[in-house]
Amino acid sequence: MAKFIVLLGPPGAGKGTQAQILSKALNLAHISSGDIFRENLKNQTELGKLAQKYMDRGALVPDDITIAMIQERLSRSDCINGALLDGFPRTPTQAIALDELLSKSNQKIDCVPYINVPAEVLIERLSGRWTCPTCGYVYHEKFNPPTVPGICDKDQSKLYQRVDDKEETVKKRIDVYWEQTSPLIEYYRQNNLLVEVDGTQSIENVSSQLLEALQRICSV
Ligand code: AMP
Repeated sequence: MAKFIVLLGPPGAGKGTQAQILSKALNLAHISSGDIFRENLKNQTELGKLAQKYMDRGALVPDDITIAMIQERLSRSDCINGALLDGFPRTPTQAIALDELLSKSNQKIDCVPYINVPAEVLIERLSGRWTCPTCGYVYHEKFNPPTVPGICDKDQSKLYQRVDDKEETVKKRIDVYWEQTSPLIEYYRQNNLLVEVDGTQSIENVSSQLLEALQRICSV
């Protein structure tokens, strides 16, 4: 049976880091809407150029564009065993669209882990973030530094700071999260899918709690 897992949490909660760990451990496709937009931006596709206007100012890309992109991604063969969604859905409209999309192929969301991190911790975390352009691994200059500053441990690429990880944009992204995405916590709680994990712990503790919860709740 395919498994579909939605990772929920504010920007900076560690969704990307945890999704990388979990998707490997569970052998599920990792679908990050932010990564797909960034890839399109790098390749200067029409979608990338369109998304950039919103991303650079920390706003959400319109629902219709984002939903169509995820629909296409979910139709690929690597999603046959299910997928781990990271950064999608981010609005109630997207959440309803995802339910409808999955139900068309007799699928459903199995579990929604919510990585909870208080607002004051998020700004500090996001502003110190450095990303590898090659493997996508995210470091933090204080909490998860690379061995050699500025260089990826895994492939020696030069790390970069995302444009939207600048402090002003970070604040905007957190506001957008509270206004547009946080209602999904209730939506999934009411559907009995939500499981909350304390995201202020170490990366290893968060992933082992997530794995334990996923095994218990949806037998991954
Ligand atoms: P992320 O890497 O998940 O923090 O996403 C980076 C940016 O991509 C966001 O600030 C949005 O501009 C855009 N984005 C990613 N996912 C979505 C989504 N589900 N809906 C709308 N915009 C999104």
